[in-house]
Amino acid sequence: MTAALMNTYQPLAMSFIKGLGTRLWDQAGREYLDAVAGVAVTNVGHSHPRIVAAISEQAGLLLHTSNLYSIDWQQQLAQKLTQLSGMDRVFFNNSGAEANETALKLARLYGWRKGIEQPLVVVMANAFHGRTLGTLSASDGPAVRLGFNDLPGDFVKVPFGNLDALERVQQQHGERIVAILVEPIQGESGVQLPPPGYLKALSKLCKRHSWLLMLDEIQTGIGRTGHWFAFQHEGIIPDVMTLAKGLGNGVPIGACLARGRAADLFTPGSHGSTFGGNPLACRVGCTVLDIIEDQGLLENVRVQGERLISRLRAELADNPNVLAIRGQGLMIGIELKQPIRDLTLIAARDHGLLINVTRGNTIRLLPPLTIDEREVEMIVRGVVRAISAI
Ligand SMILES: *Cc1c(COP(=O)(O)O)cnc(C)c1O
Repeated sequence: MTAALMNTYQPLAMSFIKGLGTRLWDQAGREYLDAVAGVAVTNVGHSHPRIVAAISEQAGLLLHTSNLYSIDWQQQLAQKLTQLSGMDRVFFNNSGAEANETALKLARLYGWRKGIEQPLVVVMANAFHGRTLGTLSASDGPAVRLGFNDLPGDFVKVPFGNLDALERVQQQHGERIVAILVEPIQGESGVQLPPPGYLKALSKLCKRHSWLLMLDEIQTGIGRTGHWFAFQHEGIIPDVMTLAKGLGNGVPIGACLARGRAADLFTPGSHGSTFGGNPLACRVGCTVLDIIEDQGLLENVRVQGERLISRLRAELADNPNVLAIRGQGLMIGIELKQPIRDLTLIAARDHGLLINVTRGNTIRLLPPLTIDEREVEMIVRGVVRAISAI
């Protein structure tokens, strides 16, 4: 790696020059099955012809005018997202962290309007919400926080999935709490699912205390779990929701959606973004949503997700190094007892399969939502062989 880049990543010594659908090719022309999808980003596959056409046409028409003028594609995408989610209004930015910053600003404004001087947001142990100073303080874990201790405060942390702990912080800090920020499924910390009914209970608690329920759906949203948004599995609706990753299929875009009281907090001048909501990103967002609809991908995620998890469970049932297999839709984690050194390299080099390992010991599978039965078998075979080679 060139020393001209700051030392923030540890990339594998491999890179790709071409992608199509679920496949990637390296410089030597070798083909790989992509079960990472750029970390839940390329949900409709690489170089989808409709995305290629949308980008090419829009690049030839207009890339940027700024939010000094109204932007038709931005309005169309907002309309589509609110229809699909039941939320009322959208603010667009360029990344997940920025979308969460927007949510945190809404929480601040909400508290300020209620006359709460030092508003507190409840966040979860092992959460990941981004790398800006604000979202980092809402996140957990020494790996991301080390050396950045002097962050803006205003957060109180509870264990994920634990309702009793929430009752306790309510009793302790009740007056100051304005919102709960939570991932429906924790992605970076190893595909952690809360107990069934957890989101529903959070929703009730928030209603009772007039707190905002703010869901970070940056990884779980845009079809990843088999519904458009993970909250739809529990028949609730949040006050605030953030999106990014899969919304642009690789074109940078983030969105913060809000409903009811939370939707009307911003006023002209109180928030903004130069690039946010530009014609290119929003047109691609519209195209992504159309593709998911037209290709019936939500149904595909449910079918292939169930197939993938049950095939993994069957094949890995007797593997002494497998602690747990869990997930929803096409967001699946395989927790190992012992980390395996160079596992992602072994899977790629020896089995042509791209996987991700998070928190050191959990294989995370996030394939494109378009995978078919044959590709599910290829993933199972690759994972089983890579784990068993040790
Ligand atoms: C990826 C991710 C983020 C951060 O998104 P960026 O685009 O990298 O800023 C925030 N929250 C969750 C749940 C994520 O998975």
